[in-house]
Amino acid sequence: MPTVELTGEMLIGASAVLGSAGTVTGRDPRTGEELKPTYGLGGSAEVDRAAELAWAAFGTYRQTDGEQRAAFLDRIAANLEAVAEPLVARVIAETGIAEPRVRGELARTVNQLRLFGRVLREGSWIGARIEPPLPDRKPLPRPDLRQRKIPLGPVAVFGASNFPLAFSVAGGDTASALAAGCPVIVKAHSSHPGTSEIVGRAIQSAVAESGLPEGVFSLLYGGGSSLGTALVAHPRVRAVGFTGSRSGGLALAATAAARPVPIPVYAEMSSVNPVFLLPSALEAAPEALGASFVTSLTTGVGQLCTNPGLVFAVDSPALDAFLSAASAAVSSSAAAPMLSRGICAAYGEGAQRYAGHPQVKAVADGLTDDSIDAPGVAHLYTTSGSAFLSDHTLHEEVFGATSLVVRLEDVSQLPSVVEALEGQLTASVHANDDDLEVAGELLPELELKVGRVIFNGWPTGVDVGQAMVHGGPFPSTYDGRSTSVGTLAIERFLRPVAYQDLPAALRPAGLDDANELGIFRQLDGQFGRD
Ligand code: NAP
Repeated sequence: MPTVELTGEMLIGASAVLGSAGTVTGRDPRTGEELKPTYGLGGSAEVDRAAELAWAAFGTYRQTDGEQRAAFLDRIAANLEAVAEPLVARVIAETGIAEPRVRGELARTVNQLRLFGRVLREGSWIGARIEPPLPDRKPLPRPDLRQRKIPLGPVAVFGASNFPLAFSVAGGDTASALAAGCPVIVKAHSSHPGTSEIVGRAIQSAVAESGLPEGVFSLLYGGGSSLGTALVAHPRVRAVGFTGSRSGGLALAATAAARPVPIPVYAEMSSVNPVFLLPSALEAAPEALGASFVTSLTTGVGQLCTNPGLVFAVDSPALDAFLSAASAAVSSSAAAPMLSRGICAAYGEGAQRYAGHPQVKAVADGLTDDSIDAPGVAHLYTTSGSAFLSDHTLHEEVFGATSLVVRLEDVSQLPSVVEALEGQLTASVHANDDDLEVAGELLPELELKVGRVIFNGWPTGVDVGQAMVHGGPFPSTYDGRSTSVGTLAIERFLRPVAYQDLPAALRPAGLDDANELGIFRQLDGQFGRD
């Protein structure tokens, strides 16, 4: 098995730099043991150096063609596969995530990098649109207009605690920004510094092996409100990708908006992913739905942004049967390590909010395990539709395996419940043929609230592909016009430029008359490869 020597240093371009503004150390959430080495934190000098290097690299990197960038992403993927064993071991030690899920997440990470490589080779991401000139048009001639998309510039990426690989140093934000032609500066998440270093070194090597300028990638360690804020405020940084808490995302968005030149912030923040059990579907299989619900609820110890935190159903014997099956599954669910002590403490407070609420009833608690340092125990609560509608605190995310089942008086309460919900990543509807009328009325309301509507399934499990949307109206994300998962994510780091009457000799690739790249583009209003 290859070994990787961890040094505790930041990676700034091609250099490794030990920070001196404090330290952070990984901790095994299963045992509480501190994990060597200690990481030195950076400050504004390191932010400045990484940002200036990124800006210097941008000039060259943005001129690389799709094939060069695809080969670079493939190389990162291969470098990660080469360190798979030490990487998986370190992720497990720093996060307590079970090995099969870590291996699955590593596969998802490398597949995601290669997927963006295929996007680059296919070419239509360039967004070429050509309107040939109409010199005889009356009353005014039309100029020659050609449009394409160009990268924004250096992107600051904040690694997520709950996806140490797929949404951290080489995760979806980094892959899509690099694909777009943007250098990336990652602020490592403080709870998995060693994982970040292994992945960062794989990218740093890929930069050198690909002959790219060193500033294409840097990895910094530091506090969010100190180094993270300085990074977002730095004038060379042109966009932000973030996954985490609402408070963290909003703080960074405020920093970005207060800059002399504001920049876009793509922050995925908080979602409770409502589930609607429509009457006929619920009556047909209440026990099976109860069991499959708890499987989704407890996946990843509930620490998934798509965790089903709210369930709505009309009060009925079928709902009682659902609850009894779900209670049995929750009561026998084992405690498992949460990602960190901090997340465990926040989860405890969130569950306590339900437990101490006068109109909320505790239905089931999972098994406890005192041998785990940061234990995640599942909980299930119920409340009434009117209590839910009158108290907004019952709408807020509890990050972990806790869900609130809301007993509705009848289906006529559904529209007001949907209306009251905040923006969400997902909504799930369980419906059979006899529910289609209600489902048909619900759908146009739900699509205004969420980024993905799921029928007869559960929200956990996000397919990484061409048609996925993992985004949604505020506060599920700060800017709901995009997605952080899937190929459309590249759009976040591009902007359109039009060239009017550009001399033929200066036309960028994809905007030439002959379409030598052979890409799918729009010519005079028609899409094709002409
Ligand atoms: P977090 O506290 O928001 O941290 C995420 C990143 O943002 C970290 O790098 C953190 O830096 C930085 N940060 C936090 N607050 C900041 C601020 N005020 N200004 C600038 N940067 C800031 O998220 P987390 O550690 O992943 O989890 C904490 C809570 O977030 C969870 O309990 C849960 O409620 C929520 N969460 C939600 C989702 C979701 O998808 N819905 C996912 C993950 C977490 P530091 O190094 O200083 O911590």
